[in-house]
Amino acid sequence: MKVTILGSGTATPSLKRNSSGLFIETVGANILLDMGPGSLRRMCEAGIDYRNIDLIILTHFHPDHVVDFISFLFASNYAYGPMRTDPFHVVGPVGLKKFHGSLVEIFGSWVIPSNNRMLTHEMSADSPDCLQIKDVGIMSRPAAHSFPSLSYRLEAEGKSITISGDTDVSENLVDLAKGSHTLICECSLPDSMKAHGHLTPSEAGLIAAKADVERLILTHFYPPCESEDIVSQARRIFKGSVLKAEDLMTVDFNS
Ligand SMILES: [Zn+2]
Ligand SMILES: [Zn+2]
Repeated sequence: MKVTILGSGTATPSLKRNSSGLFIETVGANILLDMGPGSLRRMCEAGIDYRNIDLIILTHFHPDHVVDFISFLFASNYAYGPMRTDPFHVVGPVGLKKFHGSLVEIFGSWVIPSNNRMLTHEMSADSPDCLQIKDVGIMSRPAAHSFPSLSYRLEAEGKSITISGDTDVSENLVDLAKGSHTLICECSLPDSMKAHGHLTPSEAGLIAAKADVERLILTHFYPPCESEDIVSQARRIFKGSVLKAEDLMTVDFNS
């Protein structure tokens, strides 16, 4: 399993930090988790072909997490060159089908992949849920953010990672992450600037400590995170490894 950070930023436009996006590679699947604006461009920079994506997982429907899903759907029918014919899966909280239906109302058939190639799977927005797609076990819990929002745990090749999505402090996230090797956790603002619906470094550190993960990767940074030592703020609480995500950074779970 290998993870590439496509976007470690938020809604604030930034050359350094794209909006949210992760690329996760397992033996059996190429996965995108969230697709904020610019994710497709970052994929080009990372050498990831959009035609090879087997599974898209969406945490919630805020624009900084889903805008490039629209561009992806359009490209899946109308980009130049050979097109993918294999199906691909899209997973999200209950509301995913309504979200896509709304896109179809606006954009029409341009965002309906031809030959029923897109297979959608809704996961419970208010209770624990799980799903298996290809070699990837997907577990979800409601996140403490706008409704519906989910945190996910992915398991493949005997490895497991938990991705918070956007969330405030959440025992659901602690439960979900328990026993995971790595927690990729949102950390929107430094300790001095707590915002409702999001986490500070200390809060992310406390969740990682309670879940007893080995490694915490902080991501989803608004600009004030650049002027404070947020890694030290998390390390005061969590004694495992702490990394600050950077766009195009890769973490290889096999090495
Ligand atoms: Zn966000
Ligand atoms: Zn959000």
